[in-house]
Amino acid sequence: MLAPFAYARPEDIQEAVARLADRGARVLAGGTDLLGCLRDDVFSAETLVSLGTVAGLSGIRGDGEGGLVIGAMTTISEMAEHPEVRRLYPVLAQAAGEVGSPQLRNQGTLGGNLCQKPRCWYYRGDFPCLRKGGHKCFAVNGENQYHCLFGGASCFIVHPSDTAPALVALDAEVQTLGPRGSRRIPVAGLHMPPAEDPTRETVLEPGELVVEIRVPAPADGLYSAYRKVRTRRAWDFAIAGCALALAMDGQRVRDCRVVLAGAAPIPWRSREAEEAIRGKVLDGGLAAQAAGAAVAAALPMSKNGYKVPLFRGVLEEELRRAAESTDPARRS
Ligand SMILES: Cc1cc2nc3c(=O)[nH]c(=O)nc-3n(C[C@H](O)[C@H](O)[C@H](O)COP(=O)(O)OP(=O)(O)OC[C@H]3O[C@@H](n4cnc5c(N)ncnc54)[C@H](O)[C@@H]3O)c2cc1C
Repeated sequence: MLAPFAYARPEDIQEAVARLADRGARVLAGGTDLLGCLRDDVFSAETLVSLGTVAGLSGIRGDGEGGLVIGAMTTISEMAEHPEVRRLYPVLAQAAGEVGSPQLRNQGTLGGNLCQKPRCWYYRGDFPCLRKGGHKCFAVNGENQYHCLFGGASCFIVHPSDTAPALVALDAEVQTLGPRGSRRIPVAGLHMPPAEDPTRETVLEPGELVVEIRVPAPADGLYSAYRKVRTRRAWDFAIAGCALALAMDGQRVRDCRVVLAGAAPIPWRSREAEEAIRGKVLDGGLAAQAAGAAVAAALPMSKNGYKVPLFRGVLEEELRRAAESTDPARRS
C-alpha cells in the first residue's frame, strides 16, 4: 500500500527546485517507476514534486547546430515516433521503441528513464542490501542470473534504461538545474559506478533535476542501431544489448562508440570492441574479433555465465549488420 505523501504541483522549474529542498521530497515525472518503488516500500517520500505542470519541459526541438534538444518530460513514445529522431539517430528511436510496453512508453518520460532505479530483485524486495544502506549484496551468493558481467565492485545490478546506452553512444549531455545552479553532464558520466557509491544511481545532487537532453549533430556517415535481447517477447528489461554509433567512411570505421546494455551497473562502453574496429574496414571477421574482445574481460557470477556468449553473439550480429549496410555490393 502507498504510504501518505504531500503532492506539489509547481508551475515553473525554479519552484520545482525550491520544493525539492523539502525534507523527503522526490521528483515525480510519469510515475511508472517511482510509484512502484513507493508502493513496494523500496524507499519512501514525504513529498512528490510533480513535473507534469512545469512549463517548457516537454518536446523536441533543433539546437540550431544540427542536433536536437529533448525536454526531460518528453514521453518515450514521442521520441520513438519523432521523424527527426528516427532520421538522425536510429539508435535512439529504436531504444525508445524497445522500452516496456506502449502504455509505459506513453506515460514514461526520458528524464525518468535515465534516472530510474535498478530492477535487482534483492533491491526491489525485502532485503537490506548495500544499495539500500545495508552491508552486503545478496546477489553475490544468490540468484544472480540477471546481474552484471562488468563493473560490479560491491553491488552487481545492471543499469535498466534502454535509452541511456543509446545516448552514451551518441555523446549526448544532460542539462540540469539544482540548488547550486545549472550544469551540463555527459550522459556517459551521469550514472554512478558502485565502486564510487553503491547507494546512488546518478551523480545528481539532492534537489538537482534533469531539465533537457542535448544530442549533438550526427557525425558524417553515422550508422547507428540498438539491439535488445530479453527473456520473452513482451515488455521486459534487457538481459543483453548494445547501442552502436559508428562514423563510417565507406566501409572504414572512422570513429565509434559501442555501448553494452544489461551488462553493468552503468551503460557500459566497450573500449575493447571500439579499439578493435576503429580505423579498420568492417567485415564479418572483424565483427567476430571485436565481439570476442568485448567479452574477454567479463567476470560472470555463479549463474549468469550464459550472458558471455550471448553478448558476444549479439555484438557480432550487430556489427555484421552494420558492415552489410555500408557495403555497396550488398546494398545494390
Ligand atoms: C513493467 C515495467 C516495464 C518496464 N520496462 C522498461 C524497459 O524495458 N526499458 C526501460 O528503459 N525502462 C523500463 N521500465 C522503467 C520505466 O517505466 C521507464 O524507464 C520510464 O521511462 C520511467 O519514466 P517515468 O517518467 O515514469 O519516471 P518516474 O517513475 O516518474 O521517475 C523515475 C525516477 O527518476 C526520477 N526522475 C524522474 N524525472 C526526473 C528528472 N527530470 N530529473 C531527475 N530525476 C528524475 C524520479 O524521482 C524517480 O526516482 C519499465 C517499468 C515497468 C513498471
